[in-house]
Amino acid sequence: MKKQCPLCQTQANEFFKDTQTYYKCSSCYGIFVDKDDLVDKQSEKERYELHSDDVGDEGYKKFVSPITSSIMNDYKASDVGLDFGAGTSTIIASVLNEYDYDIKNYDPFFHDFHELLEKKVRLYFFL
Ligand SMILES: [Zn+2]
Repeated sequence: MKKQCPLCQTQANEFFKDTQTYYKCSSCYGIFVDKDDLVDKQSEKERYELHSDDVGDEGYKKFVSPITSSIMNDYKASDVGLDFGAGTSTIIASVLNEYDYDIKNYDPFFHDFHELLEKKVRLYFFL
């Protein structure tokens, strides 16, 4: 069965199946679940709130270190950064702020600063 990719509208093939069916787009390589299989917004928020996202937790800093190290290796502190989907925490921004990076947080539940999504900047993708 095929589903339309929500990002680029290309028809995507079934990729993986467990309790849900996942699809992978052959054009943008996005992996997604059919929108009818997604949990409702309240359940999604409650699930995120179960995360223990203490910005002072050294283990958590180590967990996100592949991301923060990659950013520090590839970008200058003067570049603009956005943690899209930051969740309940600001861990990535907090770690990078220690090195003078200015990372903004956006999350539709916990950091809903929609004005950040209106900014036009050069985009970088990590694959
Ligand atoms: Zn796509």
